[in-house]
Amino acid sequence: MSTAVDEESGTPQRGPKSLLEGRRPIPAHFTVYLFVILPFLALLAAVPFAWGWGLSWVDVGLAVFFYVVTCLGTTVGYHRYFTHGSFKAKRPLRVALAVAGSMAVQGPVRHWVADHRRHHAFADKEGDPHSPWLFGTSPVALARGFWHAHLGWILDRSLTNQRRFAPDLIEDKDIRIVHRLFGPLTIVTLVLPAVLGGLITWSWFGALTAFFWAGLVRITLLHHVTWSVNSVCHMIGERPFAARDKATNFWPLAILSMGEAWHNLHHADPTQARHGVRRGEIDISARTIWLFERFGWAYDVRWPTEARLAKIRA
Ligand SMILES: [Zn+2]
Ligand SMILES: [Zn+2]
Repeated sequence: MSTAVDEESGTPQRGPKSLLEGRRPIPAHFTVYLFVILPFLALLAAVPFAWGWGLSWVDVGLAVFFYVVTCLGTTVGYHRYFTHGSFKAKRPLRVALAVAGSMAVQGPVRHWVADHRRHHAFADKEGDPHSPWLFGTSPVALARGFWHAHLGWILDRSLTNQRRFAPDLIEDKDIRIVHRLFGPLTIVTLVLPAVLGGLITWSWFGALTAFFWAGLVRITLLHHVTWSVNSVCHMIGERPFAARDKATNFWPLAILSMGEAWHNLHHADPTQARHGVRRGEIDISARTIWLFERFGWAYDVRWPTEARLAKIRA
């Protein structure tokens, strides 16, 4: 939800302390619509397309590969590392995570981080950019809230103030470059699967189907999985830990979201590197961070401890 004034000071949105800073330019806003709607139409078209002739094992392999890389870029990179600092990363890993996260087409790194830090700062209260609970609790209000949390908030042109919510990333030279390369990286994430599909099958048709499956459909699926963490995981599921908001653990999304669906634990203790902390709670992102730590690329990882978990148990 956008606010015209900063609720702390009551003054219009200017200066380093305000929640928002200006509005997204019209051309950029048009591309937001384009990249939300175009991949979604592709997904709708996918089912009849797949039935007949246009899906090969090469497409499946490429789609899974790009899904895993860009999902981890978002969960391990944008979310656990850049937003919450749940571990420290050596420079090449830091840059690789920013690039992989950008290729999920969920916005440039500083916008994503600023929005998400604002989400935690105001979780499920006025000021939260994507809470489903801002319109009331009647069925109609909740339907409206679900839409807003899932997708509607992205179509709001207000931009979260980076100087307030992501000053650390503004300072960082490497991240400044990756942030600016978001446009080109969006092209790469669509064209690279097509190039690989074309080379592997040595055909234009292979390039086309790879573009469709490993490009458009893969981006859409990850979009909706990520957005479900904002919508579903603040509405439906268990709350085994004492978070101050309505975040839930929703097990059906654990695998596809690579551990982010253990969202109740995450809100109860946001800097932990592992979100699936109870028996059987699979967390592929945490396992990936563990591997990075083994390779020596990540260090000072904030793994959950029994003492910390005991404190936040509901
Ligand atoms: Zn949340
Ligand atoms: Zn978070």
